Amino acid sequence: MDAGEYYWAEVLSEKGANLLKTAGWEAQGDTSAAGEQIASMKQAAEGKISSFVNTDKLKDKDTVELHNAPFWEELAFSCINCGTCTFVCPTCWCFDIQDENRGKSGIRMRNWDSCMFPLFTLHGSGHNPRGTKIQRVRQRFMHKLKYYVDKYAAGIQCVGCGRCIRLCPVNIDIRRACELMNSYPTPADQTCTVNG
Ligand code: SF4
Ligand code: SF4
Repeated sequence: MDAGEYYWAEVLSEKGANLLKTAGWEAQGDTSAAGEQIASMKQAAEGKISSFVNTDKLKDKDTVELHNAPFWEELAFSCINCGTCTFVCPTCWCFDIQDENRGKSGIRMRNWDSCMFPLFTLHGSGHNPRGTKIQRVRQRFMHKLKYYVDKYAAGIQCVGCGRCIRLCPVNIDIRRACELMNSYPTPADQTCTVNG
């Protein structure tokens, strides 16, 4: 977080701590002047949040049932697979490794890529496990809102910045996807009481 005179970084791993140490960053606690300034900036920023999305039931959903839910088709219908949502997202990291050769020399390089592009999962055999638009849109939301939630006890893989919503040319909204997923009935939800 940029606070003018300071950057605020929270250390979550030993590797991260070593990286900051190597970079010469000086650690300051929450009670330092910088810590207090960041805390008040955070509070002001949180006070401006006007939209709220329920995520409390995502973890309890059956992954296969969510994957096979009927709403994906309608949700993905207008997507043009431009990749904008993934390129502006601070939590998207998909990449591709390519070998570029010229004569007897070459380089192996890592390219920024997008799970929204048809070539992203294309196998050398020609088979593409996510060859359709619905599969790619579903993958993006399932990854952020279900696979990540199941794998890590760290919430959803979305910081709520809203960039993908603002910049999507066809107005596909992750809040709607999240609401559909979070409220999707599972067999456990469908139990009913019979009187008599
Ligand atoms: S920005 Fe919108 S149209 Fe483009 S790939 Fe993402 S969801 Fe699809
Ligand atoms: S709102 Fe979430 S999914 Fe969209 S760009 Fe921000 S972090 Fe990524």
